[in-house]
Amino acid sequence: MDYSIIGFPRIGAHRELKFATEKYFRGEISAEELKNTVVAQREAQWKLQKDAGVSYIPSNDYSLYDGVLDAAFMLNAIPVRYASTGLSDLDVYFAMAHGYQGEKGDVKAFTMKKWFNTNYHYMVPELDDDMTIKLRPEALVDAFRQAEALGIKTKPVVVGPFTFLKLAKTTGSKTKADFLPAILNAYEELLGVCNSLGAEWLQLDEPSLVTDLTADEIALFVSIYEKLLAKKGSLRVLAQTYFGDVRDCYKELCALDFDAIGLDFVEGKRSAELVAANGFPADKILFAGVVNGKNIWRCNYKTALDKVNALRAYAKQIVLNTSCSLLHVPYTISNESKLDSNVIKFFAFAVEKLVELKELGRLAELKEYQSDSAYVANQELLTKDNSRTDADVQSQIAALTDADFKRPQPRKERQDLQRKVLNLPLLPTTTIGSFPQTAEVRQNRAKFRKGEISEETYRAKAKDFIRQCVALQEEIGLDVLVHGEFERNDMVEFFGENLDGYVFTENAWVQSYGTRGVKPPIVFADVKRKKSITTDYISYANSLTKKDVKGMLTGPVTILNWSFPREDVSLQEMMYQIGLAIRGEVMELEAAGVRVIQIDEAALREKLPLRRADWHEEYLDFAIKAFRLCSAKVKPETQIHTHMCYSEFEDIIPEIDSMDADVITFEASRSKLTILDSLKENNFETEVGPGVYDIHSPRVPSVEEIEVGVKKMLEKIPVENLWINPDCGLKTRGETETVASLKNLVQAARELRKTL
Ligand code: GLN
Ligand code: ZN
Repeated sequence: MDYSIIGFPRIGAHRELKFATEKYFRGEISAEELKNTVVAQREAQWKLQKDAGVSYIPSNDYSLYDGVLDAAFMLNAIPVRYASTGLSDLDVYFAMAHGYQGEKGDVKAFTMKKWFNTNYHYMVPELDDDMTIKLRPEALVDAFRQAEALGIKTKPVVVGPFTFLKLAKTTGSKTKADFLPAILNAYEELLGVCNSLGAEWLQLDEPSLVTDLTADEIALFVSIYEKLLAKKGSLRVLAQTYFGDVRDCYKELCALDFDAIGLDFVEGKRSAELVAANGFPADKILFAGVVNGKNIWRCNYKTALDKVNALRAYAKQIVLNTSCSLLHVPYTISNESKLDSNVIKFFAFAVEKLVELKELGRLAELKEYQSDSAYVANQELLTKDNSRTDADVQSQIAALTDADFKRPQPRKERQDLQRKVLNLPLLPTTTIGSFPQTAEVRQNRAKFRKGEISEETYRAKAKDFIRQCVALQEEIGLDVLVHGEFERNDMVEFFGENLDGYVFTENAWVQSYGTRGVKPPIVFADVKRKKSITTDYISYANSLTKKDVKGMLTGPVTILNWSFPREDVSLQEMMYQIGLAIRGEVMELEAAGVRVIQIDEAALREKLPLRRADWHEEYLDFAIKAFRLCSAKVKPETQIHTHMCYSEFEDIIPEIDSMDADVITFEASRSKLTILDSLKENNFETEVGPGVYDIHSPRVPSVEEIEVGVKKMLEKIPVENLWINPDCGLKTRGETETVASLKNLVQAARELRKTL
């Protein structure tokens, strides 16, 4: 059976693209040298795909920065502020990507947004009144020709017009509809270009089709493609969807004149059902996404082949496919030298997924594949191995009852008690957790990691930092203190490293945006707290002051959302396991006399399902419970805080309130405080600390400015519920501006208290 991929990671086996691009930005290499890297990288990955026998090898999936930005550039959707700089094409492209400041101008970058339900971020295209949309196919043509010269006929990949338009924003008086005719023209021309290039296929990515669509949107999608496909000539067009199912428009999609349709049978819960209920057009090829493009686990061949075999009853021609672009997985496991072979054997990164497709393609042709040795070995590994199960964790999870998820005292009672015990002033001041990470702080961690200093020396030094940090906060006059998080490189990694069941890689980078990569840890087995994680540092900090120091933890939802999850157990199960581990830490902190404990859920929103109808059942119901699991057993007078890195939770305010924390701090300084109205409307009960200044900038806010901001907050939030704090952790900030800003913050709170 033929097999295909939707796209391949472009950062390179050793992040070559990142390093070359950054060198180019710093002026260390020329445009030509950058181009050479790109050419070499593309060649290397096409060859890998060719060697693996991939039947539909993509081109133009390789991007210098981002695929949506590429589409904008291809359409000449270049806002005037960039076009007018007179920069070269390449530099205009990069100016759109990350801004430009130099002799030719000073322009900000496009904004960035989360790419559907992934941790990848795309550049949001801007449509301004003065731009002229027209096709600029050079990049696509260039890639196609390069592959052709290597003897590889590729399938060019472009973001489709419907998704492009949906993701773009208009910045002038024209509407999206005003841009449609020109955009359609450009895509029509693109079909012509592909035809004359001799391309056999064009893949148009339309992931927006898996989101909730209105009737108008469906009609728009249909009208776009009725027009476009009339012009395809002998070119064949693949409509590629991913990240879910197309339940709102399956029939319309099938009725259009596409030559092939790509559906996701991994994340698309209803994909199989849609095909079974409605059939699949006999004249089209079904690209069946059965190999998970988003996760690092070996494919379960039984699951994949069962899906394919069921589809055979409806689709005459099937091509095996990944569920989405391999952009979302690391390059290859051969870069991992430190992982145990008993761990590695479970993983398939991008390169290894090509091998799996090949094997699946072969197995799919066999009548008796169940006795094939590759199949048998795959099933042995994925179904018979129980080395990842921990009986102790299992029984703890099984024993959970409602009481494990519910603090017995109502919030109001807790609030009264906490006020008495903690003895805080009105408008209490605090920070989110981390303090500036100076070179010395980072050096201490690096030296310890490299084995240059003993653990004892390392910890002693960390405690020095804590002592200075506590003294500094007392001097500034904050009410609830923190220890500063000097032992943490990253809020998830730090906890993962201290939990059984977590695995860390050396080189498994995944593009987060542009040149930026992340290396998510992997939930490999049942998760358990192996030792005390934070109590030593926190109680030390607590012993240094009469004020309360917040115990600082990362919550289970965030820990899981920034990791590669297992595929053999549910998200809920993993969140509860991590929740139990964090609960262990919470209880230990409380026993050590810590009276305020913050459980950060910076990434709570991250994995919210794309479709609203799925929000609760498939995510929120257990995510919120996982949080509550951490804190349900503390005494009523112990104050539980949480923190979120954004304020876009207007649509889930009751759910956030039902986390049943006592205090929540979040970002509000940049989002113009509209969130406050929603809090008021929803009678939000949790005490709140909407950030009073933006820590993403070095700017020092004045006392007056903070006072004005807080006064606005007081119009919407009862004074006894309001906290005064910055909007996120201070670790990326410099010390001078931090001290100045916090002093002003404390001063503002003092001034305001006088007026109450
Ligand atoms: N407590 C963490 C800190 O202050 C929270 C970080 C975050 O929200 N991303 O650094
Ligand atoms: Zn934050």
